[in-house]
Amino acid sequence: MKTDIEIAQSADVWPIEKIASQVGLKPEEWEPYGRDKAKVQLSEQSQENKLGKLILVTSINPTPAGEGKSTVTVGLADALMHQKHKTMVALREPSLGPVMGLKGGATGGGYSQVVPMADINMHFTGDFHALTSAHNTLAALIDNSLYQGNPLNLDPRRILWKRALDVNDRALRHVTIGLGGPTSGVPREDGFDITVASELMAILTLSRDLTDMKQRISKIVIGYTYDKNPVTVADLGVAGAITTLLKDAIKPNLVQTLAHTPALIHGGPFANIAQGTNSILATKTALQLSDYVVTEAGFGADLGGEKFLDFKAPLLGKVPDTIVIVATVRALKMHGGEDKQNLKTPNLSALKLGLVNLGQHIKSMKRYGVPVVVAINQFTHDTKEELALVNDYAKSLGVEAYVADVWGQGGLGAQDLATGVVQATEQAESQNFQPLYQPEDEAIVKINHIVQEIYGGDKAVLSGKAEKQLATFKKYGWDKLPIIMAKTQNSLTDDSKRIGAPKNFDIHIREFIPKLGAGFLVALTGSILTMPGLPKHPAALDIDIASDGQITGLN
Ligand code: ADP
Repeated sequence: MKTDIEIAQSADVWPIEKIASQVGLKPEEWEPYGRDKAKVQLSEQSQENKLGKLILVTSINPTPAGEGKSTVTVGLADALMHQKHKTMVALREPSLGPVMGLKGGATGGGYSQVVPMADINMHFTGDFHALTSAHNTLAALIDNSLYQGNPLNLDPRRILWKRALDVNDRALRHVTIGLGGPTSGVPREDGFDITVASELMAILTLSRDLTDMKQRISKIVIGYTYDKNPVTVADLGVAGAITTLLKDAIKPNLVQTLAHTPALIHGGPFANIAQGTNSILATKTALQLSDYVVTEAGFGADLGGEKFLDFKAPLLGKVPDTIVIVATVRALKMHGGEDKQNLKTPNLSALKLGLVNLGQHIKSMKRYGVPVVVAINQFTHDTKEELALVNDYAKSLGVEAYVADVWGQGGLGAQDLATGVVQATEQAESQNFQPLYQPEDEAIVKINHIVQEIYGGDKAVLSGKAEKQLATFKKYGWDKLPIIMAKTQNSLTDDSKRIGAPKNFDIHIREFIPKLGAGFLVALTGSILTMPGLPKHPAALDIDIASDGQITGLN
């Protein structure tokens, strides 16, 4: 059996001009980045095109068994193309940290991938490098202001803006900077976040255009003065310079799937610490260029799904026409308590126990009033009985489930799923979107809606620090901002070990992080980290390149 990278490297990748013309881009609306990638910027005229239908792919809570959301996203889009629907994919750009760490690549798998796979997984068109540079330029400008007499009266102990790097590097979580005497800056504690956790990443994926981006950047709170007043990028006077560094990164990247379905891949915030979806510009551009857009929200429906529906959809001005929840027999067995080593053995009783995890996500997504279907991402060892059990369970909750072999067969393996999704999008017209909360609700009210209706828990419990922060934020007028929950992806609770669908639990909010440029408050729960570490056996140990440039071990 061929590996993902072997399949990708032997693919017939079309020159990007062929994809650009297939999707109807005018010559002035795209610029090539090499042979098989391009940057896209629609003209004002094209921006008036009618929007296509939006299909949101999300999933059950991830387990080490794997779910394959990106694989299903790509395979479903290829299946829709196969059925002659004008379709585009809108995905996030992978972060290098997880590519070299635990997760490997994020370009789909098997015969449902976007290409050029290695480029997309590594440096692509340089967007993340531009973000890292912009982020660290701002950090350097802050420290320079401290050094040059501190005209903003910034308290060095209360600077919020850290450094960033697109590498999993636990050793950089907490650092001391400015050592080396009076000419080397002001000594203070600092730290690094992974680039995808940078507020600039969130801003890149939310900005409508350069003007909107500059306004958002100017609102970033970089820290507080000695008398505890917020200091912003506007006060520092560098919003223009930081935006300039992102002038190309703001443009969505055009590539293709193995079956030549056009794909826009742009931005990549994680869904456990940020909003977890590709850029609004890319999703909108895809909607303006095609009849169906298949997009993905990171991690499970409790994280990426909720954030898409409550945060991204209002800014996009479009709610999904159908939500696809990806589940696998293997992962459901793990939610039923089965060990990772035994997943190839049929086990209907573990599967039965684990189905409650799917059940909670079906229930929480259905509450929005958007049609929901389940995609069962088929693995080689799944038995007919196991697949039928998942099917029957979904039906008992009032949703259709379709087995999809997109990994083994590409779009051909998802024909039923594609037909079911098209039918579901037709029902969408008769349904009304029901938001989870109102913009004017207090932060705690918003959070309790998420905890009760999405996670199936009882309530949120705030730490003393979080309580105090909310009182302060009220003073600054930040208390009604949308909430971005930072929670483990592995559980519906804030404890990653609690699998299945636990009941009678609280969610503990440790701290809030104000992101005024992005326009949300991050609610940190449990022990969520904004700079991941590497595992004992990082993916990097398996990656190699031969003298002819052939790459191995990148999955
Ligand atoms: P997610 O988007 O949920 O993180 P991906 O789609 O990136 O998951 O898939 C993760 C990995 O699992 C990839 O290496 C992919 O090749 C593999 N994978 C996905 N679906 C299948 C499947 N049905 N059979 C075997 N491997 C699969």
